[in-house]
Amino acid sequence: MDFAIAQKRLGPGRIHHCMRWIGMCERAFNLMCERAVSRELADGQTLADKQTIQNWIAESRAEINAARLLIKDAAFKIDTQGAYKTRNEISIIKFYAANVMQNVVDRAIQVHGALGITDDTILAAYYRHERASRIYDGADEVHKSRLARQILKTYKSI
Ligand SMILES: Cc1cc2nc3c(=O)[nH]c(=O)nc-3n(C[C@H](O)[C@H](O)[C@H](O)COP(=O)(O)OP(=O)(O)OC[C@H]3O[C@@H](n4cnc5c(N)ncnc54)[C@H](O)[C@@H]3O)c2cc1C
Repeated sequence: MDFAIAQKRLGPGRIHHCMRWIGMCERAFNLMCERAVSRELADGQTLADKQTIQNWIAESRAEINAARLLIKDAAFKIDTQGAYKTRNEISIIKFYAANVMQNVVDRAIQVHGALGITDDTILAAYYRHERASRIYDGADEVHKSRLARQILKTYKSI
């Protein structure tokens, strides 16, 4: 019985983590952009002028938007079909959003240089605490394996 209750709360619990991670992504993204435009390398040249930094900003924006849409899709299905029937979508957002968050925070730290690994910004704390996101509430590998098995079941019946 206790296990059944614990399992039941995990679906809605996981989407809550994902929504929180999107908030962290947005904050890390803002810090990354602010740092890029403010860090001068030479007269009139900032980090924002470097293509690698531009790539990180563009990739981060795309990944955050994609994660947000996947989370909204899962939320809609939880609302309309219940958490049980949304198991696949919950697995997808759990491992996808956790990795997006890790990528975005990592890039933001890199753009901050040594400052990024101090506690003068929130980034190092995000990095320390949120690395666990790929492990708790089902390790990424377990979600991927479960999702793949669900998908493959539909092919076996052909
Ligand atoms: C910050 C934090 C908070 C937590 N909160 C809770 C909580 O509130 N309640 C709770 O019950 N637990 C909680 N946990 C425990 C968490 O659920 C476990 O750490 C997690 O299930 C992994 O188990 P483990 O640490 O024993 O690692 P292991 O089971 O030894 O797994 C280690 C690694 O092996 C791989 N692996 C494991 N199983 C498979 C598989 N089937 N297929 C492929 N690869 C696999 C994964 O990469 C995994 O990360 C928390 C953990 C952390 C870090």
